[in-house]
Amino acid sequence: MTIIRRPTKKIRVGNMFIGGGAPVSVQSMVKADAHDPQACIEQILRLEEVGCDIVRMGFLDMESVKNIGIIKKKIHIPLVADIHFDYTFALEALRQGVDKLRLNPGNIGGPDKVRAVADEAKKRGVPIRIGVNAGSLQREILAKYGHPTPEALVESAAEHIKLLEAVDFDQIVVSLKTSRVETMVAAYRLFSERFDYPLHLGVTEAGLELSSTVKSAMGIGSLLLEGIGDTIRVSMTGDNTQEILVGREILKHLGLRREPILISCPTCSRTNWDLIPTARRVQAYIDQLGAPLTVAVMGCAVNGPGEAREADIGIAGGNHAGIIFIKGQVVATVPEERLYDELVARINEMVRRKGESRE
Ligand code: SF4
Repeated sequence: MTIIRRPTKKIRVGNMFIGGGAPVSVQSMVKADAHDPQACIEQILRLEEVGCDIVRMGFLDMESVKNIGIIKKKIHIPLVADIHFDYTFALEALRQGVDKLRLNPGNIGGPDKVRAVADEAKKRGVPIRIGVNAGSLQREILAKYGHPTPEALVESAAEHIKLLEAVDFDQIVVSLKTSRVETMVAAYRLFSERFDYPLHLGVTEAGLELSSTVKSAMGIGSLLLEGIGDTIRVSMTGDNTQEILVGREILKHLGLRREPILISCPTCSRTNWDLIPTARRVQAYIDQLGAPLTVAVMGCAVNGPGEAREADIGIAGGNHAGIIFIKGQVVATVPEERLYDELVARINEMVRRKGESRE
């Protein structure tokens, strides 16, 4: 099944695009102190290494906003400044060369200030993400709905959008985050029926690694399956490189990124070889290789090749011998101790042949 992406407006962010059919990007946030540019740079470079496409930083004072220029010089991906309440921080972030603002125009002190920020952003070709969050809805909206319902989140976004459109600004990305998966999914669906601004998906305050991974895969994944969503952020209490790895994993298993995929069986009482360490080695090998192959590591020769028929290549072990199969057909039998090396040799050969056929 191919996901049919919902058409959205194409928004430029630095050297890339969000929406309008652009590949779904993966974002994270800097968790280092914004007053320490070197620590921020190091963290962003680590995020780049694991495949982060866009990085955001929160700023609470002018001193830290003035570090944007220093940081920008050393990094290679678009930088987003997350600004609340003080429009002068937004103006300075723009002067410092930031690539995108995350700012809610209803929170910066009136129409004149919205116009000042929007005009400066427009002049520099910088978009604005309206980030609606269940925890910080406008008082009147919360009073009207009683809770941060999907309708309340969308109404909040609509009000912020109106403020920007009133000053002739339409380079807008929107997010509608809550920590409840079902509310988040319903809010984004509702928004998509009414607007064509591109969407930044995320389940916020999603918890520690396991909980964040599950909630993000459910919330972000179900929307992407419906074609909704243009950029994603996995919010995790923990290492931000993990946020990127989980985000990429979500995209890859929906066919939105061409990356290596490991199929491995859960093992059962038919397994009589040490599959798990081999599966980990194979995963590490194909990840560093980066070629978009599907490789299987299966527990037994009886069911393995059939269960992993979709794999480009795979192995199944057992009884001190292993088999190698391609698209479900057994092509070789090798001693168990040579199984990994033989698999790697054949993967390399496949990658080489694919490279030649492209030339
Ligand atoms: S492939 Fe074989 S060992 Fe693995 S779960 Fe299936 S039956 Fe069990």
